[in-house]
Amino acid sequence: MNQGEFSIKIPQRFFSDVTDEPFENCNICDKYLLENDVPYVVEKALRNYEGHDFSSTIYEFAICQDCHMKMQKSMSEESLQSLQKYYTDVMQKRGSQPIVLDMNNFDMDQWLSKCFFEGGEISDMKEYQVVAQFKGSQLVMNTPPIIIGESAMKRMAGLLSEKTTDEMNGFRDKFLGPAPELEELIYGKKLILI
Ligand SMILES: [Zn+2]
Repeated sequence: MNQGEFSIKIPQRFFSDVTDEPFENCNICDKYLLENDVPYVVEKALRNYEGHDFSSTIYEFAICQDCHMKMQKSMSEESLQSLQKYYTDVMQKRGSQPIVLDMNNFDMDQWLSKCFFEGGEISDMKEYQVVAQFKGSQLVMNTPPIIIGESAMKRMAGLLSEKTTDEMNGFRDKFLGPAPELEELIYGKKLILI
């Protein structure tokens, strides 16, 4: 078992829809992302069309870790605690079984076919988000990409205090991927890469 860092080349699904290439710059501070170990997050919101077998991107952005942390700091303590409780509840429901990712037989399509939190199939959703973490030109699998389904999105948005929602509206009106301080709860000890 290898608990070191595992990363893969950026899959095309995380490319920018605009350039059809990996995101090059942080959408907030413009920092160049594709060199060395620059940590950043890519988030996309996608929409399905009933009866059609494709989805389109509603919005997409790349944000460097520094900017991500700054934004998350604007979250109120109250919001952070509510989200923490939500994650803890979800992980408890999943039981004590760790999530095992077999990197030799990893199927990204399958992994990203369901909401990480509530398990619903994305094909049954009108809208969902995908969040992934990168270092330079690599996708980091130790904190694997996750799908946030529409029901989980609504639930999380409902947990944010009015204050936090107002603050985040400056950037966008939806929940931004997991705060760094909550990551341990989501991936932490529950994830094993083999
Ligand atoms: Zn930035």
